[in-house]
Amino acid sequence: MIRFDGVGKTYADGTVAVERLDLDVAEHELLTLVGPSGSGKSTLLRMVNRLVEPTTGRVLVDGSDIATQDEVELRRGMGYVIQHVGLFPHRTVSQNIATVPRLLGWDRRRTAARVEELLTLVRLDPALHGPRYPHELSGGQRQRVGVARALATNPRVMLMDEPFGAVDPEGRRSLQEEFGRIHDELGTTVLLVTHDIDEAVLLGDRVAVFSQGGRLEQVAPPVTVLTRPATPFVESFIGDS
Ligand code: ATP
Ligand code: MG
Repeated sequence: MIRFDGVGKTYADGTVAVERLDLDVAEHELLTLVGPSGSGKSTLLRMVNRLVEPTTGRVLVDGSDIATQDEVELRRGMGYVIQHVGLFPHRTVSQNIATVPRLLGWDRRRTAARVEELLTLVRLDPALHGPRYPHELSGGQRQRVGVARALATNPRVMLMDEPFGAVDPEGRRSLQEEFGRIHDELGTTVLLVTHDIDEAVLLGDRVAVFSQGGRLEQVAPPVTVLTRPATPFVESFIGDS
């Protein structure tokens, strides 16, 4: 569904963030992108919603080069969740989730029903948490709201950059499990960036391991990465965690 066709990114100052990459992501797949800080994971993700333009190659979605597509239209079909989720502080949880549906002109009833459904999906209580403001939630609850907001319009693709990175270990574990369940249920195609190999292995249908300079060292199912690391880098990366 998503094809990286010789995609590379060198920033203006000469930093090679992503080395030429050929990779296919299947519909419904959850691909985790893992690697140390600076290995180009965020850059790669941001080339999929055109926050960053590649310097070589093309990103294709359903066979069509995204560079030729309208950015707003493209992003509408892609949920984006980042580490500090960027909720609007002066809007309630429900209003945050309703933002894009309202922009798209959904009526109040349809929007309210969707908000309730999404809060339930991410295991928040619509009556209790819906009226709260983001600062009245825990970090993990805020990330849940971020996930709910990104799912509001049923995107076909979810781009997630360290979505659980700022949450304490226990909270992270339950978020991971719940997100795994949500992914099984919705079947959205997901690219999820993490520097945590355990998270990558737990959640990924396949795991893509990157090293400095944005080089793809291996892409394979979790069990293969763990039992048959393709390069010394992958072996030491697994071992270090
Ligand atoms: P982290 O795990 O720390 O988030 P990452 O794997 O997401 O790292 P990127 O943020 O994609 O890595 O950065 C890859 C490389 O590109 C780094 O060397 C970074 O310094 C560089 N870089 C990122 N953004 C820019 C930019 N706008 N201009 C120049 N260099 C950049
Ligand atoms: Mg990053």
